[in-house]
Amino acid sequence: MNPLLYVRKEPYKLYINGEFTASESGKTFDIINPVNNEPFAKAYKGGTEDVQKAILAARKAYDEGPWGRMSAKERSKLLIKAGQILSKRVEEFAVIETLECGKLFMSALYYEAQMSIDAFEYFAGKARCLEGKVVPSEVGHLNYVLWQPCGVVGEILPWNGPMMMGCQKVCAILAAGNTVVIKPSSWASLSMLLIAEVFHEAGFPPGVVNVVTGSGSEVGDELVKSPLVDMVSMTGGTEVGKQIIGRSKDTVKDIALELGGKSPNIVFDDVNIDEVVKWARAGFTLNSGQVCVSGTRLILHKNIYEEFITKLKVECEKFIPGNGFDYEKGVNFSTLISKEHANNVWSYIEKGKLEGARLVMGGKPYIDDELSKGNFVPPTIFTDVTQDMTIFQEEIFGPVLCITPFETEEEAIQIANSTKYGLAGAVFSTNIKRALRVAEKINGGQIYVNTYFSKGMIESPGTGWKESGIGVAGIYKYMISKTVFIDMIDDSAPPM
Ligand code: NAD
Repeated sequence: MNPLLYVRKEPYKLYINGEFTASESGKTFDIINPVNNEPFAKAYKGGTEDVQKAILAARKAYDEGPWGRMSAKERSKLLIKAGQILSKRVEEFAVIETLECGKLFMSALYYEAQMSIDAFEYFAGKARCLEGKVVPSEVGHLNYVLWQPCGVVGEILPWNGPMMMGCQKVCAILAAGNTVVIKPSSWASLSMLLIAEVFHEAGFPPGVVNVVTGSGSEVGDELVKSPLVDMVSMTGGTEVGKQIIGRSKDTVKDIALELGGKSPNIVFDDVNIDEVVKWARAGFTLNSGQVCVSGTRLILHKNIYEEFITKLKVECEKFIPGNGFDYEKGVNFSTLISKEHANNVWSYIEKGKLEGARLVMGGKPYIDDELSKGNFVPPTIFTDVTQDMTIFQEEIFGPVLCITPFETEEEAIQIANSTKYGLAGAVFSTNIKRALRVAEKINGGQIYVNTYFSKGMIESPGTGWKESGIGVAGIYKYMISKTVFIDMIDDSAPPM
């Protein structure tokens, strides 16, 4: 397969009000392959005027268009149709995602693309199960609660899983009955520009889905500030999330933020070490560590400390770095998204060394001509990491693991909860009572017991505690409740 056969020669266009269009400025930007930092395509670069047009289109489609009058069943059928169209183009999407984000092709094809199709199917069903409730009230009175769409939603996406995350969020937004303006990350715009074609072919009315590329400070900020946008949902880093909180204050709009993490992975001394090292390895290296819920702080019982680390290193040495398309050569570890991001990760690695953590693996660039063209950072393991160290406290978002020893259950929980984040966490122990006790005490919205990463992610609420976010992931994030109060008594009088 030649991946470049899937790449268009002309710049990828924005999608506004049902039309594929160049940006108002006519400016384009290069799409870079992070495996070699070479441009392989171009896309139009959206700006303020483009996003304002998209917001107006989404507003009109919501307030006046056929979308607002469609039943949940009709919305559901459109989502099913779009999912079927996507499933016929799955290879193309996986290729583009691999090229643009430096992913492993097999993972893009058999996991992320499949999860994206699943999002259409799941939310098509969900659209038809949005029930309110009747609230017990006084005799002669009836109160009921409806869940209604928020209206126009601005969806701001990160670069680490743009296709899967984009589909999960946009399908939920549409199933709930909203219209949407999608702002993908500048490092990963293509999958959402292509998904616009899927919605278009499925027959979504103009303005219901819009995709505008561009910078966060211009296009993203306009979505956050605009009084015509009812709700902004953003997935990304905590610092940008804080800016959005500040910038949304003038319109008091609903915001949902899925932000960064520094998740603890607690391993007790009663486990099967050979099995758990595999989970610990996956926990910090999946997608080269660019996963929000990565288990980047391994909190390891003193009794198994050295043996576990030795075995973990052996497992990590099995990685074969390279181009994600080279699966036949066994490549199972890929590049980071950009030079800029890799430099940031390297600066954390230097800080770890300077602050006195013990580097036991990685920490230096690969010596290989091909790999040095990309943004590869090898799996890097620091041990004896203390709670005051920067690498313990801050999200690195690369394949860097910090290991801290513990002796008692209380100490493990204290270490686990001593960062500003609260996204996810894990506990490994064959003592199920202890495992569940610890799971209950870890501060975080997703906790894994004797495993790492979730199954049934789309069906389960994910919430960022502390500085990891605001709001519960899922369809109700994009809905707003309304309670209707009914007086059924003929001669009732107003309160005095
Ligand atoms: P980022 O915060 O740099 O950017 C996220 C998005 O916000 C991008 O589209 C960007 O253009 C936009 N943006 C930037 N400044 C903005 C502004 N002022 N106003 C509006 N929008 C703005 O994040 P990233 O580097 O793309 O992604 C990595 C981060 O995302 C990591 O911190 C990771 O943990 C987090 N993440 C969290 C989850 C989760 O579910 N909690 C999932 C995936 C990624």
